[in-house]
Amino acid sequence: MTLLIKNGIVYDPLNGVDGEVMDICVENGRIVEKIDEHNAQIIDASKMIVMPGGVDIHTHVAGAEVNSGRLLRPEDHVHDVEPKTSITRSGVGHSVPSTFTTGYRYARMGYTMICNPSMPPLEARHTHEELEDTPIVDKATFPLLGDWWFVLEYLRDSLIKECAEHVAWMMVATKGYAIKIVNPGGLEAWGFGRNVRDLDDLVPNFNITPREIVRGLCMVNKILNLPHTIHVHTNRLGQPGNYITTIKTMECVEDLAESSKPAIHITHCQFSAFKGDSWQNVRSGAEEIAKYVNRHTHVTLDMGQVIFTDTTTMTADGPWQYTLYELSGNKWVNHDVEVETSSGIVPFRYRRKNYVHATMWSIGLELALLIEDPWKIYLTTDHPNGGPFTSYPRIVSWLMSGRARARTLKRINEKARARSLLPSIDREYTFYEIATVTRAGQAKALGLKNKGHLGVGADADIAIYNINPKEIDPSKDYKTIRKAFSRAAYTIKDGEIVVKNGEIVKTLSGKTYWINFESLSLERGSSNCSRVVADLKRRFREYWTVEFENYFIPESYIGPSTPVSIKMGMCKE
Ligand SMILES: [Zn+2]
Repeated sequence: MTLLIKNGIVYDPLNGVDGEVMDICVENGRIVEKIDEHNAQIIDASKMIVMPGGVDIHTHVAGAEVNSGRLLRPEDHVHDVEPKTSITRSGVGHSVPSTFTTGYRYARMGYTMICNPSMPPLEARHTHEELEDTPIVDKATFPLLGDWWFVLEYLRDSLIKECAEHVAWMMVATKGYAIKIVNPGGLEAWGFGRNVRDLDDLVPNFNITPREIVRGLCMVNKILNLPHTIHVHTNRLGQPGNYITTIKTMECVEDLAESSKPAIHITHCQFSAFKGDSWQNVRSGAEEIAKYVNRHTHVTLDMGQVIFTDTTTMTADGPWQYTLYELSGNKWVNHDVEVETSSGIVPFRYRRKNYVHATMWSIGLELALLIEDPWKIYLTTDHPNGGPFTSYPRIVSWLMSGRARARTLKRINEKARARSLLPSIDREYTFYEIATVTRAGQAKALGLKNKGHLGVGADADIAIYNINPKEIDPSKDYKTIRKAFSRAAYTIKDGEIVVKNGEIVKTLSGKTYWINFESLSLERGSSNCSRVVADLKRRFREYWTVEFENYFIPESYIGPSTPVSIKMGMCKE
């Protein structure tokens, strides 16, 4: 199968290509130097933008939490139906779409890889089943390990090496990709109806602080040489005044960073960038956070942009979801599985005229515009927490157009408008910067060597948008931009055309990326890391309702499996 994309206007930031007219050659699912034009299928991409397929570093699309959200929200589905076609399956969902619909809608926007950021280990099987059900896009999922008893104990006892061995086992057992930390210590405290107050508050019964958890897992991440950094949802998320906690969280791993390599990813930073000490005087802390990020090289972030719409919030941060339930009075699910972690789900409507919601909307954009280097901040809504991922094209238009921002600003709460930093910011993203925050930067942060770029050897995951940058001024024609990014002219996945003119024309199964530590030679959960396994087995007899042997997910259980192999020089006893 060969494909030639001719004369496209290419934006490929990882290879420094900024709007050059060039051809892209595809053979057997990869980008190649040259192909025989006579035997190739040809796409005429002249006057169109060509970018690598979109990569989403943080989107809740699969697993028990998402599925509970689906069950909780029939009203979310009833007006948003995806009819069956001869190619696609039917589905539903505005903010918590069904699995098939999720895959189709990402592909229509030109996205080809998504990361599900919050997986309780005991629900890994379910998560992988749903990921396998999500067509077209490639996937990765991050196990929640920040409140994991083993981790807390190893770190409390300063057993970093053992902790690393354990995390390695967990990563392979759950077929995970990165270490997710949510409100470190807070989820364990939530088991007792409590929360931790800040980075230096003791976690009940464990005599360890959130700071020690973040630092410990950052060291573990380094020992294991994982491709992505620790992926952190900060303490005090959603609380006024939390921007200080966020800066302290970034600061606390400063000394662990190697040269200019990132050591921490702060996810959906908007929710962690509030100044003030009450909901009445909550203000933007974006300037302070941006100032810190601009001066340091060890941090990456994603936006967690708020959209004025009805959505469904869901996070492993159980205590925060309880607060949100109290604030909103909406229905609420508190979900927990054998105290491995916690979670909560609350429907939520962000209103333009609400002071807090409008302030949050402004904060997300302020962060993206005030952080100078687009390689450090990525476009997300923390789907569906800030809004559904289908709103990404709207965010693109806000980033590219001061007028688009001004138009929304005019319609928001007056006090929020008066305090918004947006009118003082002239910056408008270029296409190159958009390509960075929607694919290249995310692929780089995830350490995905063959994603997010169009160099020779890369996966042939490509998006073509019907925009001619020579004719269209995004600052003025922001509506055209929004439309074009909503419906890709073409999406190419693994070298095959899956979307044409915004419609699915072919479906295929996306791959699941997971970390494999080959030297552990894990078979059915046993390992040459005998200490770690002995410890696990002992605990399984005491605490879990499943057998140890059923906990470990064999590779054969994963859809198209793509292990990322890492050498690990320990556990040779
Ligand atoms: Zn999230």
